[in-house]
Amino acid sequence: MIPEDVINRIRERADIVDIVGAHLSLTKAGQNFKGLCPFHQEKTPSFTVSPSRQTFHCFGCGEGGNVFSFLMKIDGSTFPAVVRALGEKVGVPVEDRPVSPAVRQRMELRERLLALTKVAAERFHLNLLADAEAEPARNYLASRGMTPDTIERFDIGYSQSGWDGTLTALTKAGFSAEDIAAAGLAIPREQAAGFYDRFRGRVMFPIRDLQKQVIGFGGRMLDDGTPKYLNSPETPLFSKGRILYALDAARDAITRLGYVIVVEGYFDAIALHQAGCANAVATLGTALTPEHLELIRRFTQRVVLLFDPDSAGVRAALRTMDLFLGSGFSVQVGSVPAGDDPDTFIRSQGPDAFAALIKSAPSLLEFTVQASLTAGRAGTVEDRVRCVEDVLTLLQKLSNPVEQSAAIRHVADQLGMDEKALLARYKALPRKSVKASTPQPSAGVFENQPLPKDEEVLLQLLVHEVLTPEMWTEVRAEDFTDTRAKRLVSLVCVADAPHTRQQALAQAGEDELCGSITRALSMTELPYDNINAAFQQSLKALKLRRIAVELQEIKAAEALATKAGRDEEARTLLVRLNVLQQERQKLSKINPSSYNEAGRIHA
Ligand SMILES: [Zn+2]
Repeated sequence: MIPEDVINRIRERADIVDIVGAHLSLTKAGQNFKGLCPFHQEKTPSFTVSPSRQTFHCFGCGEGGNVFSFLMKIDGSTFPAVVRALGEKVGVPVEDRPVSPAVRQRMELRERLLALTKVAAERFHLNLLADAEAEPARNYLASRGMTPDTIERFDIGYSQSGWDGTLTALTKAGFSAEDIAAAGLAIPREQAAGFYDRFRGRVMFPIRDLQKQVIGFGGRMLDDGTPKYLNSPETPLFSKGRILYALDAARDAITRLGYVIVVEGYFDAIALHQAGCANAVATLGTALTPEHLELIRRFTQRVVLLFDPDSAGVRAALRTMDLFLGSGFSVQVGSVPAGDDPDTFIRSQGPDAFAALIKSAPSLLEFTVQASLTAGRAGTVEDRVRCVEDVLTLLQKLSNPVEQSAAIRHVADQLGMDEKALLARYKALPRKSVKASTPQPSAGVFENQPLPKDEEVLLQLLVHEVLTPEMWTEVRAEDFTDTRAKRLVSLVCVADAPHTRQQALAQAGEDELCGSITRALSMTELPYDNINAAFQQSLKALKLRRIAVELQEIKAAEALATKAGRDEEARTLLVRLNVLQQERQKLSKINPSSYNEAGRIHA
């Protein structure tokens, strides 16, 4: 590992404007420099370099970081290599320093497993091409329309049906049985010593990370054996809730086209790539997770979900509703006609029909409403009533009142009901007002995934380092609702001196979760003439909102405790309730009218 102080010396000596300027042409714009982004296609420059902060940020694709991340990205090389090369250029020699034994052990295990999975993938692929036993597998892939070129590109393979074909081959190649098991390719025998192959008689799909290294496998059964699909277990390399199949092959197309298609199986993803839709990825037999969304967010905020049209597919789409609500993603649901799956549809109808299907795909909300209505219309009167309730509860989650009333009109139309009667029923529903109390987000610098206005103002002041020590003590991560904002505040607020704070800010600028907003905010100009007013007003809004949410939770808990006769608990809750109400009252007394519009001069 390269010592931190050497890295810092190199960073201080190199000028990011020079380094970036060697790769693209930059022109001065205010305090910053602008140019056409080398990481996505654009006609007007949104790639910004800040000489004062020595960072870059693209407002188009969100790419950004410091001089090292720029060079890594543009040269496709590793951090140590980039530091070494740049060190040579600016005259700071780089020497290695030993790492701790535990870290070294983990790094070495990872290296060994990656070498092992690479050899395993090559072997599976050779099996498929050459082994007589793989004949049915080859026929099967041909029957699913996989061309030799696609089989090559996705490195599809075959695992032999014996108990230890993979084990023997990998042992011969010099790997230990323990490592083969640690990589998820072998299982310890229960009754005796030794191991046996996990994947037997299956078509094998290597699963790669974003660096295109094989980290796991998916295997499909050829006959009626179960399970039909089998994935690698959780290993030091592989965690299926964080992996999207084919993302390594799809990332450039996703950035270029501005959206990602998410399907449920390897075959669907591969068929889409083969047909020219290179922005398709697949989940590995799990529902989408929050970790998946964070992964996708690095490339786009537009998602098209493609599910099978059967009821399981519809249920899968509905389950993602809560995951996506308030996430800032724009989500559409495409469905192929009954009897088809994405794979068969694109092969029989062609890419143009598929593109039309994507283009006309309803939003996730429209789709969900439609699915409930279809179920309701088919059923009894009671079913219809329940369906109306379901749909209305769903509509409550829409924060925009215009969207809400349009949706209610649509539902009334669809059910042949009177709009006024439906509206009356809607108003009578118990309200989950936590969502409703969330303020309208500001468009600001985050067009795709805006921050609540008050949170944006506070973070902007924080990133520009204009807060006084007293102000600093008042900013707390738990008051924020946006996860990126929480992360940024928690990173920066542990620092208590100006210079450690600058380090923390630099770290936040490279953070996976909050890096993009940190960089974007630091490159805006501060529009406030009265910083104290802007700070106080936003902080007040933020705290009031947090208190409102907490009050509601405590009231509900208190009612429950009283009802169940847990008097002691109810009393404690009432005390807390009182404290919060006082806090709210105190906050309300701070008179916002003494500030003009958050102190903005040009909003
Ligand atoms: Zn860009």
